[in-house]
Amino acid sequence: MKFHKTLHYEALPFENPLSLDRRCYQNLAQETRFFQPRASCPLPSSALPTREAISSPPREDTSDHWSGHLHQYAAHLTIINCCTISMEEGEGSTASKRGGGRLCFICNQRRPALKRPKTQEQICRECFYVVFEEEIHRVIMDNHLFKPGERIAVAASGGKDSTVLAYVLSELNRRHSYGLDLFLLSVDEGITGYRDDSLETVKRNEIQYGLPLKVVSYKDLYGWTMDEIVSVIGLKNNCTFCGVFRRQALDRGAALLKADKLVTGHNADDIAETVLLNILRGDIARLSRCTFIVTGEDGPIPRCKPFKYTYEKEINKYAYFKKLDYFSTECTYSPNAYRGFAREFIKDLERIRPQAILDIIRSGEDFRISTTTRMPEQGTCERCGYISSQKLCKACVLLEGLNRGLLKLGISRANGSRRHDVGHPKPEAKRPIIQNKPCGTLDF
Ligand code: SF4
Ligand code: ZN
Repeated sequence: MKFHKTLHYEALPFENPLSLDRRCYQNLAQETRFFQPRASCPLPSSALPTREAISSPPREDTSDHWSGHLHQYAAHLTIINCCTISMEEGEGSTASKRGGGRLCFICNQRRPALKRPKTQEQICRECFYVVFEEEIHRVIMDNHLFKPGERIAVAASGGKDSTVLAYVLSELNRRHSYGLDLFLLSVDEGITGYRDDSLETVKRNEIQYGLPLKVVSYKDLYGWTMDEIVSVIGLKNNCTFCGVFRRQALDRGAALLKADKLVTGHNADDIAETVLLNILRGDIARLSRCTFIVTGEDGPIPRCKPFKYTYEKEINKYAYFKKLDYFSTECTYSPNAYRGFAREFIKDLERIRPQAILDIIRSGEDFRISTTTRMPEQGTCERCGYISSQKLCKACVLLEGLNRGLLKLGISRANGSRRHDVGHPKPEAKRPIIQNKPCGTLDF
């Protein structure tokens, strides 16, 4: 008779590893990749098993001990999430059952619903929800992203990333008692047929998730809508204006909400793309900070990226399976080379080796900037007081160009940090400009 049992656990009763029998050790060895104690795990890390301990089973069979331990331990499991033990008794092995990919790789009980993009494992929908959400929880805990009582503004565009972020954060906030006050913060760029529709989505999210919404508009903040800007400057460089204005708009909106932090839906793909682009254009200042999970701690409001290690494909699947209400139409003014070749390159790499995305992020993290490299000094804009490494911040330069009809003011990037003087615009640099990813997401 086959006996198959699956347990979810958050820590193992490993005070005495010899109380586990050989098969359990072997199963554990197979499952060890999932071994990741939760933040709430009651055991100190010294009490947790090492990979070596698990891979060296004891000689004697003490399965009674094993079951006893498990049952005893199961009593105080808050259950789930990061780890699974699969035990089988009788003929056949866990591995052979999984061989044809017939059962979920994690729970070994239900039919797989997807091949997990990050790990290529065939898993069921329920286990996907669990690993997806708990990985984000882990990132939040490990990086101390939030403190109880903080007011957190979630940058919400109505798109997939930010919708999933708002949904998952409100779930985790409840489940793990983060004690956060969450708000949705949207920017209305004034793009007819795009932002007006996506804002409707955010307004529905406000009701669906019970999160108060604040909308700030370019028209109110800068006196221009993107429609008006495009009618003047055309479809070249529109995303430069839009990205710069959005960055400030989010900061100003967060200030109006009295938020302690702003969270954005930048995912692992976005960050890998940014690392590559910053290398390609030699932007050392941005390269050195683009992999930080928290930025702007010296600015008006820190920004966090809880999706730093979350794959875009998984966000898409999560939104799809959960039937979340999001908006997926592309901006009317989106450039044709949408997201650019760096993004395509990363997608190609991911197809061959999914790990590539995480490896690029890690490479970015491990860069050491030479101490002789001159970094821009942070100050504040003389005109609006916003953080800036120049006399005037980028938004003020662009705005002045718009208001004075000097349309190329502030948009040339001959190098990563050079900027034309406001009063004496120089001719635009001849070399081609690498197109930013739309929506300003490169400006971390
Ligand atoms: Fe703005 Fe994004 Fe549209 Fe560009 S693609 S104009 S950054 S909303
Ligand atoms: Zn499963």
